[in-house]
Amino acid sequence: MSKRKLFFDMDCVLVDFQSGVDKLGEETRKEYKGRLDEVPGIFSLMDPMPGAIEAVHKLSEHYDVYILSTAPWNNPSAWSDKVNWIVKHFGDLFKKRVILTHCKDRCHGDFLIDDRPKNGACDFAGEWIEFGSPLYPGWDEVTDYLLEPEQRNGKSIDHKSVDEILVEQTINALDAYSKLLNDNYDGSKEEYGKIMKLVSLTNKWLRVSGEEDELAYYED
Ligand SMILES: [Mg+2]
Repeated sequence: MSKRKLFFDMDCVLVDFQSGVDKLGEETRKEYKGRLDEVPGIFSLMDPMPGAIEAVHKLSEHYDVYILSTAPWNNPSAWSDKVNWIVKHFGDLFKKRVILTHCKDRCHGDFLIDDRPKNGACDFAGEWIEFGSPLYPGWDEVTDYLLEPEQRNGKSIDHKSVDEILVEQTINALDAYSKLLNDNYDGSKEEYGKIMKLVSLTNKWLRVSGEEDELAYYED
């Protein structure tokens, strides 16, 4: 049985973006204020996030692993710096398994670990694991979640199709949404992000499974 596909975002997931910013001089920080990701060479200065290297090695034993990251359009050196960073920290683990794109929703897999919904991450066809969220604040929680079925079964990870995951995820999101409305939406950015994710999942679900009737349950 083939392994499930797992995609890793880089910035603020594998890579400590702030550690690169901290190494810049005062002048450079001033010049690139508000667009620090455009500083030439900044991506070569960054350290790994705590626990990231170990977690990736552990997960790569059970999953088919890929990098799915975005490099700033206005910073061409970022594209090569990112590949060099991957080779420096992971050797050949991700050789020819790196996707740099602004359209993460064009990729299909089982899981994407990403800290933001941007660049198509929230529309990824599979489960988006929101790194840094209350549910997955760090690598321990993410690896526990992804390896849990493995530990429970003592052998292979339970395989589900992307459609099955999508339907399950949508039902969970709808439940969370209805709870959110009952608890009075507070207008925060975080809650707005959850609602946006729900809308996108619902659209995908309708497209993939055509289960419009199921939604009637949530209409009132
Ligand atoms: Mg990121």
